Amino acid sequence: SKNNGKNNYSVYNDEMSSKMRRRLRLEKDLYQALQHNELFLVYQPQMDTNRHTVIGMEALVRWRHPVLGLIPPDEFIPIAEDTNLIVTIGEWILQEACSQMTRWSEMGYVLKVGVNLSTKQFNHDNFLEMVTSVLSKTGLRPDLLDLELTERIAMANEEETLNKLKNLKELGIHISIDDFGTGYSSLAYLPLYPLDRLKIAKEFIHMADHSEEGKAIITAILSLASTLGICVIAEGVETYEQIVFLQEHNCYQVQGYYFSRPLSAQDATAFLGTV
Ligand code: C2E
Ligand code: CA
Ligand code: CA
Repeated sequence: SKNNGKNNYSVYNDEMSSKMRRRLRLEKDLYQALQHNELFLVYQPQMDTNRHTVIGMEALVRWRHPVLGLIPPDEFIPIAEDTNLIVTIGEWILQEACSQMTRWSEMGYVLKVGVNLSTKQFNHDNFLEMVTSVLSKTGLRPDLLDLELTERIAMANEEETLNKLKNLKELGIHISIDDFGTGYSSLAYLPLYPLDRLKIAKEFIHMADHSEEGKAIITAILSLASTLGICVIAEGVETYEQIVFLQEHNCYQVQGYYFSRPLSAQDATAFLGTV
C-alpha cells in the first residue's frame, strides 16, 4: 500500500542520514584522534609452517573512539584518505611499527614488521623522505620492514611507481603486494616490478574450502610466483585443512586466525616468546 511505501522510504532516509551523521562525526573526530592517543596498533603473526617460526608481524591500526568505541580500519582509513589525514596518520603508524620492531630486534627476535600503505600515502611527494627519516629515527634495519601495497597502488602511474619501488628496494626494504588477485590488474606488471612477495587474499583461501575454482586460483598464483621467483604468503588461514592444502602446493607462509588473531604489542611479544 501507499502507506507502506512511505514508511519504507522514511526508514531508508533515516538509515541514510544516520550513516551520514556517523561518517561526519568520525571525520570531525579523526582530526584529534592522534593527539588524543586514540589510535593504536595490533600485530598479527605470520608463520612459516615448515620451520614452525614467526617470520613477521603485520601491524594493523585500530581507533578507540571515546564515545563510539572501537572503529575498524575499513571504516576510518577511507575517511583518512578523503581528508588527507592519512599522511600524518600513516607516518605515525610507520613510526610506531618500526619502533616496536626495533624493540623486538633488540630482544633477539628475527622477523619483519609488515606495514600497510594506502594510495595517497604512497603517492605523496615526501613519501621516500618520510620512510627514510622514520627508519633513521627508530634505528630499524630497512630489511626488517615489509611494506604492503595493494595492486591498485602498484598499477597506477607506472613510471613513477616503478621508480619509487626501486628506491625502496635500494634501501633494502621488502615489498609485498596485498590482496593479490582482487585488484583487477594486469599481470604484465609483475615481472617489471621489484616485488618480494604476493599475499593471497583471504577471499581465495576461503573460496578454496568449497570450490575447485578457488583451489585453481591459488595454485595458479603459486605457480606464477614460483616462475617469477617471488614468495607467497596466504592470509585469512583459519583451518588445519587450509594449511595442509597450502603445504601440498609448497606454500609454507601463512597468516590467520588459525595461529592467532591480531594481538596487542604486549601479547605479540609474549607470542614470540612461546614459539
Ligand atoms: P588487510 O591488510 O587485508 O588485513 C587483513 C585483515 O584480515 C585484518 O582486518 C585482519 O584482522 C583480518 N584477518 C586476519 N586473519 C584473518 C582470518 O583468519 N580470517 C578472517 N576472516 N580475517 C582475518 P582489519 O585489521 O580489520 O583490517 C582491515 C583492512 O584495513 C586491512 O586489510 C587493511 O586494508 C586496512 N588497514 C588495517 N590497518 C591499516 C594500516 O595501518 N594502514 C592502512 N593504510 N590500512 C590498514
Ligand atoms: Ca595487509
Ligand atoms: Ca589482505
